[in-house]
Amino acid sequence: MKTIGLIGGMSWESTVPYYQLINEYVKKELGGLHSAKIALYSVEFDEIERCQSENRWDDSAKILADAAVGLEKCGADFILICTNTMHKVFNEVQAAVSVPLLHIADATGEVLKEAGIKKVGLLGTRYTMQQDFYKGRLAEAGFEVCVPADGFIAGLNRIIFEELCVGIIKEDSRSFFAQAIEDLKEQGCEGVILGCTEIGLLVRPEDSCLPLFDTTVIHAEAAAKLALK
Ligand code: GLU
Repeated sequence: MKTIGLIGGMSWESTVPYYQLINEYVKKELGGLHSAKIALYSVEFDEIERCQSENRWDDSAKILADAAVGLEKCGADFILICTNTMHKVFNEVQAAVSVPLLHIADATGEVLKEAGIKKVGLLGTRYTMQQDFYKGRLAEAGFEVCVPADGFIAGLNRIIFEELCVGIIKEDSRSFFAQAIEDLKEQGCEGVILGCTEIGLLVRPEDSCLPLFDTTVIHAEAAAKLALK
């Protein structure tokens, strides 16, 4: 079994499900007392969030690259960055280590392809929804990616950072996400990427008029599969 390196803590609320999902997958496949080999480097999210909002992406890349180097030293055979947003610095982190990083958008693209989805909605932080590092990667893989109308962006971003990343779940916020998904359906999307690792803590399949593709679940399962391959 390969050792999975996780760069987590962004936020830790979503790193918990990663740990659980990976172990559940290994248990399902191997049974008995089997569990995953995992090395976790959990960063201080306040530092990372400051880098994001102050546009100091190079500083955040350095923090994650150092974490990746630590994980490689711990014996990680491959590494996951357990957040969509921080894939903005994916190349810098990959360049710091000799083991491969498993990109969250690539894993998601594989699942979308299997589901036969071509036009897909994307929900995430304002960075993920508005910048090109994530949408561009999916577009290169052949998907048409839509984000909700401008009026939704600030509200979705606020719910992620002020509520979900600190473990607050509110009914009003759930309906706000449901409305954003309706907007994506009106744009002709066939499914929705929960492109922020905390959204699955709030939005359930029954809240959505479109099929959901939860990047936390997809990324964690892709890691578990790779570890057992
Ligand atoms: N976990 C979130 C994501 O998947 C947001 C936290 C962050 O900014 O890294 O994008």
